[in-house]
Amino acid sequence: MFELLFPSYCINCNKPGAYLCMKCQKKLKPSLPECYVCRRISNNYSTHPGCNAHRIDSAFIGWQYDSIAKKILSQYKYRYAYKLSTILSSLLLERLKRTGFIKNIKKNSIIVPVPIHSSHNKERGFNQSFLIARQLSEHLGCHLDENLLVRVGKNQYQSQSSLRDRKILDQVFRLEKQIENQDLIILDDVITTGTTINRIAQTLENNSIKAIALFRGRPHYLQQEP
Ligand SMILES: [Zn+2]
Ligand SMILES: [Zn+2]
Repeated sequence: MFELLFPSYCINCNKPGAYLCMKCQKKLKPSLPECYVCRRISNNYSTHPGCNAHRIDSAFIGWQYDSIAKKILSQYKYRYAYKLSTILSSLLLERLKRTGFIKNIKKNSIIVPVPIHSSHNKERGFNQSFLIARQLSEHLGCHLDENLLVRVGKNQYQSQSSLRDRKILDQVFRLEKQIENQDLIILDDVITTGTTINRIAQTLENNSIKAIALFRGRPHYLQQEP
């Protein structure tokens, strides 16, 4: 009924019917299975043994972070979070099934959305990774723990500190409780350099760690292709 009164429009092409129409969903380019550290092809997104300094054994990326991905993400963050989180998490689940990565995920794993600063949380009202993490945990039969990690360090900002120092301070996480013998899955919206997930992995001792992200830019060696 509500949908009849307020029809939804595709955030990319404005076609009425869905927040992301089928045609635009298909425009998303699946990421190639690569090692998140060196970005060379690897077996089902696993980290090469020689690259695995941070103990993240694999990092699954849904799609390339291209112009349509950017559009989806900005609409997701600032307007249609709940609507788009449903679409994005079911598309992500489909990718996990199609690639077989889902077989690497143990049922009792804990999904941990990358925390944002509490100050950001207040401004925007929610952590955007949390919605996807929650729906994914339901689909996968995993636990969700959005309070396991907190981001610390923002208060340490000095007005005179350089941007680089701020970025480093921004990437400090604290573990709120100890967990043992459970696999962890870090969930992020976009992976860029991998610093965030590496920093998180540093705080998680004695656990098997995986990462899942919606998007990542193309590796440099593919940058020239059409
Ligand atoms: Zn569309
Ligand atoms: Zn590698």
